[in-house]
Amino acid sequence: MSDDYQDTIDMILEAATFGELNTAMKDLHMKTRPLSAAVLVDLVVARAIGEELRDQLRRGGTKALVVEVPDGGWAEPIGDAIKSLIGDLAYVIARSSIPRGNDLNDGMLPKKLREGRVAVGVAAQPDRTLPPLLLSLAEVRVAVVAPDAEMIIEVIRKSQGGRIPKEASTLMPEMLSFDEITALIDRNGNAVETVRRIRAAIERKTGTNGSRNDSRPLPRLEDAIEYGDARTWALSLRDDIADMRKGLIGWEDIDRGCVLHGPPGTGKTLLARMLGEACGVPVVVSSIAELFANSSGYLNDVIKALRKTFDEARAKAPSILFLDEINALPNIDTVGDRNKDYWAPVIFDFYTLLDGAMSVRDGVIVIGATNRIEDIHPALLRPGRLERAIHVGAPDAAGVERIMRHHLGGDLADGDLENLAIQNVARGATGAVVMEQVRAARRLARRAGRPMVLADLEAQIVEEETRTPEELRRSAIHESGHVIAGLAVGSTLDIVSIAMSGGNGGCARLSMPTGTLVTRHQLEGVVMSLLGGRAAEQLLMGEPSQGAGGATDSDLARSTGMVASMEASLGLGHSLLFRALPEDAWQLLREPDFRRRVEKLLDELYQRTIDILHARRPALEAVVEALLKRRFLTGEEVESIIESSESVVENRESMPAQGGQRQPVATG
Ligand code: ADP
Repeated sequence: MSDDYQDTIDMILEAATFGELNTAMKDLHMKTRPLSAAVLVDLVVARAIGEELRDQLRRGGTKALVVEVPDGGWAEPIGDAIKSLIGDLAYVIARSSIPRGNDLNDGMLPKKLREGRVAVGVAAQPDRTLPPLLLSLAEVRVAVVAPDAEMIIEVIRKSQGGRIPKEASTLMPEMLSFDEITALIDRNGNAVETVRRIRAAIERKTGTNGSRNDSRPLPRLEDAIEYGDARTWALSLRDDIADMRKGLIGWEDIDRGCVLHGPPGTGKTLLARMLGEACGVPVVVSSIAELFANSSGYLNDVIKALRKTFDEARAKAPSILFLDEINALPNIDTVGDRNKDYWAPVIFDFYTLLDGAMSVRDGVIVIGATNRIEDIHPALLRPGRLERAIHVGAPDAAGVERIMRHHLGGDLADGDLENLAIQNVARGATGAVVMEQVRAARRLARRAGRPMVLADLEAQIVEEETRTPEELRRSAIHESGHVIAGLAVGSTLDIVSIAMSGGNGGCARLSMPTGTLVTRHQLEGVVMSLLGGRAAEQLLMGEPSQGAGGATDSDLARSTGMVASMEASLGLGHSLLFRALPEDAWQLLREPDFRRRVEKLLDELYQRTIDILHARRPALEAVVEALLKRRFLTGEEVESIIESSESVVENRESMPAQGGQRQPVATG
């Protein structure tokens, strides 16, 4: 045992008072800590407390100091380091958590202050953990910033030595706690292994909070093209957080929240985790609906559960709090007067927690998710709160292919997945569905005792064809009609398919580029694309089938609903009168006058669609033949078929080209 240790042991043995024993024990504690802890603490303290402040403290020029540390584990070691920096003059109160019983007072503090000592409070959440007296006296407040990659490299170099791998500079250790870092950098380890362990710990932290039923590593945000606008938002947030860490911008300059909306399984939770990994911050996953369901239903319990969730995110801040099923939060405007009194405290508490978590420095980024955006109260989307709603829909063909590749890992590396991806798009498969398909294919191969082959995956996706050739032809004509009419009015085509898929005989995925405000011309275009299927059947087969109608999501139902909403809701028909929400406008069809107007416009649009298809008949027929041969075509393939089909598509109905959103006109 070194002399150094012996001194401390002697101090312990010879301690005459409890105070002396306490000091000696602390001394021993410090000396037996891994070397990395001492190095780390020295580095962060040197960065946080500059020369000038240090001198001031030593001279007693500053009477009280508050030091905010990244997590509770830092409090004691930083407190010790500051004590040895200032010397005997210091009276340090280090709090690693909120004191039990919430009594924040420190009995000795007034006396120590009277004696002229410099009071130093060290805590992760000073305002909630340090004595109010100290807080009110503190002239100086400093923040110890969590160590970055550069600092970790320095600690490894000093405590372990050896060659440090280059990729160490890309580590994002900010989310690791003091205890985790010091446990990972042990004295006997080597640098390469240590960097690998730190990276794995960071990945575990970003990827394993909450339940993930998918053991693959997370996809990279950069690659996840299927997320569209949501990916753009996430990438820019990632860059902002990096700038904030460099001190270029403040927390208040950062877009701290959004609501992701779209069907279940489209990867909203996954996106939050990917963002966490990209930013190097932990992700807390919770669901408002589950939270309500799991508490007894008493208001107090609901509020407690909410607070616990926010507390967890704040304790890990900077962090991402993902709140799924956010529509379960009752809407104060629609709960009714009696329920209003009941729910008001919960709703009020929720907004207080939300505003609190998002506003503090290095706070919480909150991502809400819902598949019912229409139920979200506008107060949640106010500036400073979740602000924007971003749609996450079923992926397009390129997106599905990327998701398939992700879940396949290295399997089927030579397999051509394009056709399977297109079939998945045709059935509107989400990322979760694709994951299940790959899993089922893998199971099939495992049971057969051989590596996976493309047929295993096909078996999950391709449905057996039961239609007669005549029925298939009609289906090809119907879908081609949607395609030709859609392209003529300025839509773009992702894919068209006549394969049986999810109970549907075919589909054309078209989208109309629109601004955020859709015009009459554009909506008429969407209706004409919808009517294109029936019009093509009439044109090429002499009479249409009932395939365009019959269901509430059929071509005819959607066209009728759209024209009705133009007339009664959007001010894009004959009248400016607002009479219903767009989705309710069809209910006015009971009124004879209204019905006549809607019917007249529908007839007009149908006739214009027939005219368009008539003028493009060679192109229409060429697409039908290609579809019958191949079953699926991509937008690009269709473009080239049309080009080579002599019918040079002239006189396209001119549509104002606008950037921005796209109006989906996927048709079945
Ligand atoms: P949501 O939150 O929208 O309901 P999840 O994020 O829970 O959807 O997705 C469920 C699972 O589906 C994920 O764990 C993942 O395996 C798979 N998945 C969904 N979207 C994607 C995607 N874009 N890329 C890879 N896998 C995905």
